[in-house]
Amino acid sequence: MSNKSFAGDSSVTIARYGGAKKVTVIGAGVAGLVAAYELEQLGHHVEVLEGSRRIGGRIYTHRFRSGPAAPLVELGAMRIPTKHRHAMHYIAKLGLTDKVRDFKTLFSEGDNYYTTNSGLVRVREMARAIVEDFRRDLPGQRYSDETVFFGAWLMAIGNAIAPANFRDNLRDEFSLELLDLVERIDLTPFLRGRASGDIDLHAFFAAYPEVGSSRQGRLARFIEDVLDETSPALVRMEGGMDQLVRRLAERIQGPITCGQEVIGLDVRDDHVLVDVREGDDIVTRRCDYVLCAIPLSVLRRLWLSGLSEAKLSAIRKVEYWSATKVALHCREPFWEQDGITGGASFCNGRIRQTYYPPVGNDPVGGAALLASYTIGGDADVLGRMPATVRHAEVIQELSKMHPELLRPGMVVDAVSLAWGQNWWSEGAGTIRWGKDAITCEEERAEAARPENRLFFAGEHCSSTPAWIEGAIESAVNAVREIQLYKPRTLLLSA
Ligand SMILES: Cc1cc2nc3c(=O)[nH]c(=O)nc-3n(C[C@H](O)[C@H](O)[C@H](O)COP(=O)(O)OP(=O)(O)OC[C@H]3O[C@@H](n4cnc5c(N)ncnc54)[C@H](O)[C@@H]3O)c2cc1C
Repeated sequence: MSNKSFAGDSSVTIARYGGAKKVTVIGAGVAGLVAAYELEQLGHHVEVLEGSRRIGGRIYTHRFRSGPAAPLVELGAMRIPTKHRHAMHYIAKLGLTDKVRDFKTLFSEGDNYYTTNSGLVRVREMARAIVEDFRRDLPGQRYSDETVFFGAWLMAIGNAIAPANFRDNLRDEFSLELLDLVERIDLTPFLRGRASGDIDLHAFFAAYPEVGSSRQGRLARFIEDVLDETSPALVRMEGGMDQLVRRLAERIQGPITCGQEVIGLDVRDDHVLVDVREGDDIVTRRCDYVLCAIPLSVLRRLWLSGLSEAKLSAIRKVEYWSATKVALHCREPFWEQDGITGGASFCNGRIRQTYYPPVGNDPVGGAALLASYTIGGDADVLGRMPATVRHAEVIQELSKMHPELLRPGMVVDAVSLAWGQNWWSEGAGTIRWGKDAITCEEERAEAARPENRLFFAGEHCSSTPAWIEGAIESAVNAVREIQLYKPRTLLLSA
C-alpha cells in the first residue's frame, strides 16, 4: 500500500510521556486505522501491518463493474445509526458528510415483503398477520390487545434479525416477565392503528428504556441492536462505506503494508516481539509499542507468549457470531416493477433478510441485490457450503418471492462472503446478546486491558460491539492508553 518510511511529523504535538513513541498497529480495519491516524495527530510514529491484500477489514464494498456508476453492495457494514456519535464524527472529520444518505431498512417500506406462518404479505399489511401468529402461540389469553401488539412486533423483528438459537429462546423471555411488565403500561400513545395492530416500538423504548433492561438486563443489548437495525435514523454512504477507511488511510503518514500476516506475539518488559509472515519467510520484529487491532477470534490461533493467564483466558472465551452475505448482480432492478424501491424483505428459511440497494442511473450497468443476509447459525449453514452451491441455493429460495430471478440472463454475477469462515475475521463480531450489563462490561474491560506495551483495539474492546461505532470507540480509548503509558525507565527515575 505504501513505501513511506516509519516516521511521522513529530512536531505536531509533544507526546505526553517519554516523547514520541513508535507504535506498530496490527490490522488495517477501521479500529487500527483510526488509532494510527489519531496517534500521528499526537506526534507519535506509526506503521500499520495488514495481513490480507486489502484494507478495511469488515468494511468491504464490492463493486460489480468498474467505474463510478458500478452497482455496488456492502459485504460488511452497510449502515450507521445517526446516534453513533464516534462514527458520525469521523464521517464529518474525513469530509464525507456530503455522501451521507438515508438508509431504508427492514419494515420501513410498505411495499417490501414479510414472510408469516401463512405465507408472504406486504409490510404494510403484516401487522394483522403477525398479531394472529403471536396470539396463537401465546400461553393463555390474559394480555390486552396492546400488549399482544407489542409482543408480536418485537417477535417479528427478532425473528427477522436474530439467529435460530436466539429466536428459540426469545419466546420464553417474553412470556415470563416482559409482557407482564408491558401490560402495566399505557401503550395507546404508541399505537399507529388500533385495528391493524401496528405499534411504534422505537417510540416506546425511547419513552420506557427501563423495559429493555428487564430480565436483569439480559435482553438489553438484543433490544438495542434490533431497534438500531430497524431504526428510521440510519444512514449509508453514497459510493460505498469503504470511502471511510480509504480516506483514513490517505491521511496516515506512516506506512500501511498489506500482505503482512502476524503469526506470533511475545510480550517483553520494554518491547514486543512480533512474528510476521513475509512470503515464505517468518521475520521477527522488535517493536517498542504494539496496538493489536485484529479480532480475538484470529488472535487465539496465533503463537502468544508473555501474556497473563487472565488475558489468555479472555482471548479464548470471547464469543463470535458468524454472518454471511450473498449478493447478486442483476441485469435490471426487476423488483421495481413489483413496487419495491428500496429497504428490505424478510424471507423465512435459509436466506432471512434481502436488501434492495439504491439503483444507479446507468441502465446498462444493471443493479445489485443483497439477496441474503444471515447471522449466527443461519450464517454458518450457508457459510459452510461451497460458494457456487450457496449462490444456487439462495437464488432458488429467493425465486419463491421474486420469480424474475429465474428468467434467463437475469443473474449476471454472484458474490458472497462468509465472515465466520473467513481467515481474517473468523466471525462477524462479538455479540453480547443474552448477557447482563455487568458481564458485558467485564468482557469488554478484559479484552481492552493492555499487557505491558501490547495494547488492544477493535469492536470487541468496546461497549458497542459489532458496530463501526464500537471499533472507533476502542481505537480512541487505546490511543489514550498509549499516550498516557509511562515507560518503566521514566517510572524508576521519577
Ligand atoms: C456482515 C457484517 C455486517 C455489518 N454491518 C454493520 C453495519 O451495518 N453497521 C456497522 O456500524 N457495523 C456493522 N458491522 C460491524 C463492523 O463492520 C465492525 O464492527 C467493524 O468494521 C470492525 O472493525 P475492526 O477494526 O474492529 O475489525 P476488522 O474490520 O475486522 O479489522 C481487523 C483487520 O485485521 C486484519 N487481520 C486479521 N488477522 C490479521 C493478522 N494475523 N495479521 C495482520 N492483520 C490481520 C484483518 O484483515 C482486518 O483488516 C458489520 C459486520 C459484518 C461482518
